[in-house]
Amino acid sequence: MSGAGNFKNCRSVMVTGATRGLGLQIVHSLATGDFSPGKIIATARNPSGATAQELQKLAQNHPNVHIVPLDVLSQESIEKAAEEVAHLVQEEGLNCLINNAGINVVADFQTVTAEMMIENFHTNSVAPLMITKAFLPLLKRAASRAGTGRSMGIHRAAIINMTSLLGSVELYWGERANSFKWYPYRTSKSALNMVSRCMAVDLEPDRILCMALHPGWVRTDMGGPEAPLSREESVDSILSVIGELTEKDHGSFLHYTGEPLPW
Ligand code: NAP
Repeated sequence: MSGAGNFKNCRSVMVTGATRGLGLQIVHSLATGDFSPGKIIATARNPSGATAQELQKLAQNHPNVHIVPLDVLSQESIEKAAEEVAHLVQEEGLNCLINNAGINVVADFQTVTAEMMIENFHTNSVAPLMITKAFLPLLKRAASRAGTGRSMGIHRAAIINMTSLLGSVELYWGERANSFKWYPYRTSKSALNMVSRCMAVDLEPDRILCMALHPGWVRTDMGGPEAPLSREESVDSILSVIGELTEKDHGSFLHYTGEPLPW
C-alpha cells in the first residue's frame, strides 16, 4: 500500500499556500483520497480572492477542509492563524505542518538587487521558521499525545519544508552551473535547507520530525508549462514519501521519489 494511506491515522495536516499549484493539489488529494486525514487546514493569504476559488469549492464539498487566512510575510497574520488553528485542533494538536508557500524572484548576477534577495528570503526561508515557531505548541501537543514511544512520523508530529533541488550547493557545479542562474530563489532554498537541519536538531527532544522535500519539477505557475511532472504525479509521490517518514528521515533532504539528495 502507498505510504499516503498513513494519512488516515493523522488527525490534522496543515498546508501553507494552498490556493494554487502544489499546495492546492496536496489539499485536493488529501480531501478526495480514501486516506483523508481528520482535519485538513488549508491556508491562503486571501481566502476570498479570485485565486482561492478552487480551494473554496473543495472546502464546500469536503467538511474536513478548513480554510484559514495566512499571509506568511506577516507576523500578526501568523499569530492569528496559530490561534485559529489551536481552536480547530483543540487538545489533539497539529500532526503535520507542510511549509509549502513560496515565490521565485528570478534574477541573475547582473540583475539581482538587495531588495530581490530579501523578498525571496523572507517568503522562502524566514517565513517557514517563524510559522514553525508559532505552531510549535500545537505540534508538541500532538507529539506528546502519541505516547512515550520513540518512533517519529506523521502519526506523532512532522514538519515538511518544501524546498528545491536548486538549493543544493553540492549539485550547483560543473555543467549544472550554467542553468537556472537564479540568485534569490536558489540561495533562499539553500537557507531553507539549513533552517530544516537546525530545526531538526532543536525539535528532536520533542520527537518532532523535520525534513526538507523537493517536489520535482512540476507544471504549476512557478514550474511553468515545460516541466515534466503534472501536479497529480508529484503530489501522489510526495504524499507517499511523507506518509512513510520515520526517525531515519529526521533531518533529511529528500527527492519526491524518496531518494536522499546531496546538500
Ligand atoms: P505556485 O504555483 O507559484 O504557488 C505558490 C503558492 O504560494 C500560492 O498558493 C501562493 O498564494 C502562495 N504564496 C506565495 N507567497 C505567499 C504569502 N506571502 N503568503 C501566503 N501564501 C503565499 O508554486 P508551486 O509550484 O505550487 O510551489 C510550491 C512550493 O514548491 C514552493 O515552495 C516552491 O518553491 C516549491 N517547488 C516547486 C517546484 C515546481 O517545479 N513547481 C520545484 C521545486 C520546488 P497566492 O495564490 O495568494 O499567490
